[in-house]
Amino acid sequence: MPERTCVGCRGKAEQADLVRIVVVDGRFAVDARRRLGGRGAYLHPGCVARARKTRAVQRALRAGAGEPAQLAEVLEALEAPEQARSLGQNGT
Ligand SMILES: [Zn+2]
Repeated sequence: MPERTCVGCRGKAEQADLVRIVVVDGRFAVDARRRLGGRGAYLHPGCVARARKTRAVQRALRAGAGEPAQLAEVLEALEAPEQARSLGQNGT
């Protein structure tokens, strides 16, 4: 399995354990099937809160310093417990 670095904790994990967030046509999206091209940021589902604090996703995607409302929506969906379970919670 390919390994990727989580932008939240900087830890390495198998790609399958991480969520990939991409920018497509100027909009943030979760690349659930890992088929979208372009720059992506990998994140443990349990590291979403930390990444929001440090704005790691925006930095990884070169999307500027703020948190666009649309990215907030994407990350909030990831933070929802039922969503995190289906994506594989890492225990934090
Ligand atoms: Zn992490």
